[in-house]
Amino acid sequence: MKTVLITGANQGIGFETAKQLAQLGYFVYVGSRDKNKGLDAIKKLNDLGVTNVEFVELDVTSIASIQKAKELLDAKLGSLDVLINNAGISGGQPQNISAIKMENLRNVFDTNFLGAVQTTQQFIPLLTKSKEPRIVNVSSGLGSLAIHSNTQNSNFGIYDAYSCSKTALNAFTVMLANEFKNSNFKINSVTPGYTATNLNHYQGTQTVEQGAKVIVKYATLGTEAPTGGFFGDEGALDW
Ligand code: NAP
Repeated sequence: MKTVLITGANQGIGFETAKQLAQLGYFVYVGSRDKNKGLDAIKKLNDLGVTNVEFVELDVTSIASIQKAKELLDAKLGSLDVLINNAGISGGQPQNISAIKMENLRNVFDTNFLGAVQTTQQFIPLLTKSKEPRIVNVSSGLGSLAIHSNTQNSNFGIYDAYSCSKTALNAFTVMLANEFKNSNFKINSVTPGYTATNLNHYQGTQTVEQGAKVIVKYATLGTEAPTGGFFGDEGALDW
C-alpha cells in the first residue's frame, strides 16, 4: 500500500484529499498541528468507512514537531511515497504590501513557505526510499505573478502577503524539481481553485471535493508525468 503524508489535513481541502486518497487505496497519515482536531478528523473518516488513515501531530512551523513526525514515520515505514504540503493560512489583515506589519508577513511566510520547505527537507530521506516519490505543494492562483502583472486581474490587494508566500512556494517547487530532475521524483505546485473552507470563511465557490481533485491527480502521477510545473484543474498555469 502506498503511503502519503498530508500536512494540515484535519479540515478543509487537506481533509478531503486524505479521504479521496484513502479511498484510492493509499495509507494516509493525516497531519494536524492540534491533537484533538487530528483525532476528530480520524473519527470522521472512520465514520465514513475510511479506515486506512492515521493521525500524525505536525506543526509545520516547528522543526521539533516535524522531526518527531519524521521519526515516527521512519520507525513505522522507513519510507514515504507522497508528501502533500497543504497546510496554509491566509494571514491577518491588512496585507497591502506597502504597509503590512512585518510580523504578519513573517507569520504567513513561516507557514506557507518556510513550513513547506522545512517539512520537505525532513521527509526527503524517506521519500528517496520510495520507487515513485511525489511531492505536491498546494499553492494558489494568487501565487501567479502572471495574474498579478495583468492589471485587469489584479484585484487581490487584500491578500498580498498570502500571494507572495505562494509565489515563493512556487519558486521552491521549481528549485527542488531541478535539484531532483535526474531522479524518480515528481514535484509540482497545484492550485485547488477558490474553494469554500475556513481559510476564506467559506466564501469560495467550489466544494472541497472539487478542490481536492487536482491535488489527488498530482499526488498519484505515473512515471510519464511532468515535474516542476504549476497546475490547476484545467491544466498548466502561468507562473
Ligand atoms: P483550511 O480549511 O483553513 O485548512 C488549512 C489547514 O492548514 C488546517 O488544517 C490548519 O490547521 C492547517 N494549518 C495551518 N497552520 C498550520 C501549521 N503551522 N502547521 C500545520 N497545519 C497548519 O483551508 P484550505 O482552504 O483547506 O487550505 C488548504 C490549502 O489550500 C492551503 O495551503 C491554502 O493556501 C490552499 N488554497 C486554498 C484555496 C481556497 O480557496 N480555499 C485556494 C487556493 C489555495 P488548523 O485547523 O489547526 O487551523
